[in-house]
Amino acid sequence: MQNLLKPDYYVNSIYNINYQKLKDMGIKNIIFDIDNTLVKWKTPKINDKAKILLESLIDMGFNICILSNSSAKRVKNFTDNDKILYFSGIGIKPMKNKFYGALNVLKAKKEETCIVGDQIFTDILGGNRIGITTILVEPIDSNELITTMFIRKIEKKIKKKLNMNNDICS
Ligand SMILES: [Mg+2]
Repeated sequence: MQNLLKPDYYVNSIYNINYQKLKDMGIKNIIFDIDNTLVKWKTPKINDKAKILLESLIDMGFNICILSNSSAKRVKNFTDNDKILYFSGIGIKPMKNKFYGALNVLKAKKEETCIVGDQIFTDILGGNRIGITTILVEPIDSNELITTMFIRKIEKKIKKKLNMNNDICS
């Protein structure tokens, strides 16, 4: 049985992913988490570094969708380029509805889609539940919601036991 907490791939950061390799594997759509994946927690809008990366991925032919449990108002601040899509409808990760919402916005097939996120119990669990490729990154920063800081302790133990695949590191 598939371990729903195990990411398909593990990479240090969004800047260390070999995106060409992902493309060669047939991935056309990338869903990104915001907090501690694209930017530090509580960052109000996308920064230049992340924006340049997302725009370069769009230039490579990827469709990009932002998926966060944050408010719709804030999520929109990460999509100031019309080509960066987002889904902020009902549900919270790891609920399936939240992920199906993103697939819908992207008009994407599961087998051509991946999620990149820093949390096992939201990004990876949700992605695995609907059967898309899952990529775990290290959180950018240790400053987080108090509940997340607690969950990180459990995550750490799980990560040690998982034999994670880092084949898509650049
Ligand atoms: Mg996150």
